Amino acid sequence: MDFKDYSTAERDTPEQAKFRQEVRDFLDKEVTAELRREAEVNFFIPPGVIAFMRTLGAKGWLMPEWPKEYGGAGLSSAEKSILTEEAAAYGIRLGSPTDIVGPIVMRYGTEEQKKEWLPKIASGEAIFAIGYTEPNAGTDLAALEMRAIPDGDDYIVNGQKIFSTGAYQSTHHLLAVRTNVDVPKHRGISLFIADLRTPGITISPQWTIADERTDAVFYDDVRVPKKNRLGEENAGWLIITDALTVEREVVSYGHVDARVVVDKLIQYAKETKHNGKPLTEDPLVRQTLAQLAIEANIFRLFTHRLNWLITKGTLSDWAAAMVKIWSAELTQRAANAGMQIMGLYGQLEPDSKWAPLEGYIELVYRFSVVMSFGGGSNELMRSLMAIKGMGLPREPRI
Ligand SMILES: Cc1cc2nc3c(=O)[nH]c(=O)nc-3n(C[C@H](O)[C@H](O)[C@H](O)COP(=O)(O)OP(=O)(O)OC[C@H]3O[C@@H](n4cnc5c(N)ncnc54)[C@H](O)[C@@H]3O)c2cc1C
Repeated sequence: MDFKDYSTAERDTPEQAKFRQEVRDFLDKEVTAELRREAEVNFFIPPGVIAFMRTLGAKGWLMPEWPKEYGGAGLSSAEKSILTEEAAAYGIRLGSPTDIVGPIVMRYGTEEQKKEWLPKIASGEAIFAIGYTEPNAGTDLAALEMRAIPDGDDYIVNGQKIFSTGAYQSTHHLLAVRTNVDVPKHRGISLFIADLRTPGITISPQWTIADERTDAVFYDDVRVPKKNRLGEENAGWLIITDALTVEREVVSYGHVDARVVVDKLIQYAKETKHNGKPLTEDPLVRQTLAQLAIEANIFRLFTHRLNWLITKGTLSDWAAAMVKIWSAELTQRAANAGMQIMGLYGQLEPDSKWAPLEGYIELVYRFSVVMSFGGGSNELMRSLMAIKGMGLPREPRI
């Protein structure tokens, strides 16, 4: 598979082409057929991919744009884009909650925290889940109720998080808690790194429509060291909004890469006959695939631009929101088109031997619904764009 099959928008420089080949050689060696399949049908990072993250970490490619002193490889934004899209073509999406925490520790951590956490993050030793959402705090995240009360060198934390995706196989939680109840809600929140193996933490599964596991995490008198607080006490909201911007970039390709969905549909059309005629001769199929290829290329350019903005340190919340919306809705359009092209066979699940593309499109069709919510709902993203990107007034509060 090669995204360039239908891309004429860009060409690699000789150095980039060389780097792309280096990445392909590495992936050829490291990505087994089993790992590829495991990664392709599990949109939330499965165990094999966590192990692979550590292989990448050993090469400095888990946080590729970071300087070598922190365990990165000092890659440029263009090289990071190449790494991300080549890995996606091998079924591996390089976007996990750990990719959200890393830049935040880099930006807001004290020197001591950076020394402690950045190498662990870059090597894959520390794997994170994000702990923001609660039963009464989703879109209105600042309404969160989980409490942390100082006690000696620690805080004692009580309460519940939901949708902490990947918590069951993570080592740490980026945890948002209330540390002051006597101030306006945005001003009483602090952010911590909590070790998920601490006594008093219970993790239990929640299942999505696509049979993917996410988790509820319960804290019962859990001690979290004060030294693990990111930023000042009660100043967590600003950091969270920044972290959400990073998250929107990560989720735009971290679960399903829309380009891969489009590539697979093109491959399917090339290999399949309907009523004795190749699908590629059907004018409707051709028009649909050409349109999706245009949109996949737009997504590709969006991600290149985002990586460039991140490297420059100028990624804005609304620019990330725009890409997050595009990625979620393009994936939904592509999965829907796939279901139309495949007809009734498209509904067969991955465990059926008759399922086209081993049930991949059916699975994406179900999962893509979830993409409207991850990192904040698309309605919220559009609202953010309207206010921050277009200068429109806030919506009236009802
Ligand atoms: C599979 C999955 C994985 C997730 N993973 C994580 C994770 O790892 N960590 C984490 O902390 N959270 C996670 N989330 C939570 C996710 O961020 C929330 O679902 C999201 O913020 C929306 O919150 P909610 O589900 O409570 O919906 P609600 O806030 O109840 O919203 C419901 C609907 O109302 C709309 N709505 C609400 N308020 C407004 C408004 N002001 N204007 C316009 N429309 C509005 C929303 O757009 C949405 O369509 C995950 C969610 C899912 C489904």
